[in-house]
Amino acid sequence: MTTQEQFQKLVDTILTYNPGADIPQIRAAFEFAEQSHQGQKRKSGEPYIIHPLAVAQIVAEELRLDSESIQAALLHDCIEDTPATYDQLAKQFSPTIADLVEGVSKLTRIQYATKEDEQMENLRKMLIAMSKDIRVILIKISDRLHNMRTMEYQSLDKQKQKSLETMEIYAPISHRLGMQRIKWELEDLSLKYLDPVGYNEIVSKLDAKRQEYDEFMKKTQAQIDQRLNELEIKHIIYGRMKHPYSIYRKMFSQNKSLDEIFDLFAFRVIVDTVGDCYNVLGVIHDIYKPILGRFKDYIGTPKPNGYQSLHTTVMGADGIPFEVQIRTQEMHEIAEYGVAAHWKYKQSGQGAGTEGKYEWVRRLLENQEGADAEDYIRSLKVDMFADEVFVFTPNGDVQNLPAGATPIDFAYAIHSAVGNHMTGAKVNNRIVTFDHVLQNGDIVEILTSKSAKGPSRDWMKIAKSNEARSKIRQWFKKEKREENIANGRASFEAELKHCGILMKDVTDPENLPSLLKKVSFGSLDEMYAAIGYGGFSAQKAVARMQGELQRIAKQHQTEKAAAAALAAPAEKPAEQAPRSAEPKRIKSEQGIIVEGLDNCLVKFSKCCTPVPGDEIIGFITRGYGVSVHRADCPNASPERRNAPDQKDRWIKVSWGSDTNENYPTSLEVVCKDRANLLLDISAALSTTNTFVLGIQSRSTTDEFAMIRLDIRIRDAQHLKTVMNKLNQISGVLKVNRPAG
Ligand code: MN
Repeated sequence: MTTQEQFQKLVDTILTYNPGADIPQIRAAFEFAEQSHQGQKRKSGEPYIIHPLAVAQIVAEELRLDSESIQAALLHDCIEDTPATYDQLAKQFSPTIADLVEGVSKLTRIQYATKEDEQMENLRKMLIAMSKDIRVILIKISDRLHNMRTMEYQSLDKQKQKSLETMEIYAPISHRLGMQRIKWELEDLSLKYLDPVGYNEIVSKLDAKRQEYDEFMKKTQAQIDQRLNELEIKHIIYGRMKHPYSIYRKMFSQNKSLDEIFDLFAFRVIVDTVGDCYNVLGVIHDIYKPILGRFKDYIGTPKPNGYQSLHTTVMGADGIPFEVQIRTQEMHEIAEYGVAAHWKYKQSGQGAGTEGKYEWVRRLLENQEGADAEDYIRSLKVDMFADEVFVFTPNGDVQNLPAGATPIDFAYAIHSAVGNHMTGAKVNNRIVTFDHVLQNGDIVEILTSKSAKGPSRDWMKIAKSNEARSKIRQWFKKEKREENIANGRASFEAELKHCGILMKDVTDPENLPSLLKKVSFGSLDEMYAAIGYGGFSAQKAVARMQGELQRIAKQHQTEKAAAAALAAPAEKPAEQAPRSAEPKRIKSEQGIIVEGLDNCLVKFSKCCTPVPGDEIIGFITRGYGVSVHRADCPNASPERRNAPDQKDRWIKVSWGSDTNENYPTSLEVVCKDRANLLLDISAALSTTNTFVLGIQSRSTTDEFAMIRLDIRIRDAQHLKTVMNKLNQISGVLKVNRPAG
């Protein structure tokens, strides 16, 4: 076929699926490419233009892409291999076409070396991320397919290297994009060069039995076809043989001979409805004997990538087993055409892969929902890795970093020691600054020196990854301990001075343990070191210590006063009655007057949360002043009050006249569980001007619910109003004040 004939064939193919294609522009691209590649030959000796034409043919025939993609396919080697430039293509064709060609060239420039699985996965992601426009990767795959088809003219080394790359990178990407036929062909072609002996063994065995196999398939297909027609089940049926690479994998992974492979032959039956899928299954199992354990219902339980079908294996004539796959047209298109079909049939919920591997395809698909058919491929921007960047080490390992990452992030991702000894960096062989932003596909090299000073504090700001930042912080923490302690101590002392606190109060052995506990450090040096490397601030340290010092001071006062009061118990009973009968305006703490004590630390017990108006009693705690309980609190029961070891510590307290604060208290509402109950409760609280601190509800057995309200209350009167209001709500059985 002459190149002109080949071009005409391409045009004919395009017009079958896209009658509106821009043929003059496509011809212009063909002529431009032919001109640019003038004089270049392929390894086969043919003129080079054969290759871009064949790639365009694949793009049209297999993928049915738009006019821009066809032009880009024709021009795909122009920037890389001819004097033509990006600007020239942008001007003569369009910036989009120039971008596509540039994108394909970039992928071509990437160097691969075979690596462990995780590395390969990163490489695949890198390719996708670099493609930006999905058409770039589709053209690149078509390019690779044609190169694999014509690999026989290459050197042995090149054959192996390209085949490995195809097997590890391009076949899996084709699979992910749902292009099964291309994937099979890529795998078979790769196998042919990777293991010629194994490949030929399979192919020659298949060839030897070709006639026998063909007859078997024809006969079987006719049998099934006839039965389905008799039952008037509308269907399409066709058979295929397993392709060589999947036979190869089965033979080797399961150590089986060709004859032992159950699903060498497979038939596919496509029907209209899910119901018919199961009807066909019944028919097949009726004609042939099913092989136990081989039935799989991927309709009921789709595969993670959304694949659906019924699979069964049965025993055919002459004891030859074969597989049957049964699916609807919709399931079929999704299985065959992947990406594109997913758009056509929005699968509500199904195919929402739980497997991380397919996650990015799913995201890609979701972003496209509702797009217009013709714009579909065009608008498939590959932005699923927008927040990641993939770069190479000089050895060809791929590092996956956050977008915007710098050489510092890269160095620390390799190893802390590399980061800590870094003196400079090269990107694509050029020296760059530490804040240079890395791009997909960059080759990054870190220059290190044993005598490097180590990271600077600025690096923390430049680094994008948490990993790098935390490793830098780690370094300052460890390497510079002495310096950190000195720096930390200096800023701590300055802050103390600023707040008017004496160092001797901090170091006082009576205070130090509880102060350290407040800041959660084992020693002052530890705290200084943390302040020094930036893990803790002097302001925070001093603020917390200041609070603690005040508390300690107050506690000393209370204890002293309590001791004094208890030292003179005889005078107490006489004075007690009149004092509580007509409370003097004594300076009180939180509205509480403690008998005989001025200005002492008071806290309200959490068990019964007293509010003004409640009858109350105080208990002198060790360390925290006086704790106030309701008189009816179980924790203040008469037994406790009279216990010999506690008797002296119970003290009379009363409400002062300055109880204008709000007191936190809790209520428990027992009610019948119903809709809008919480709504009614909050309405009751808001009409009584009650501030809510928290609501927890839990269902109990028998449709009852227990709701705990934490609220602020002014006094007993307010509390009574609230409880009344709550009691009036329909469904409320009881309102309790919890205690004990
Ligand atoms: Mn090419």
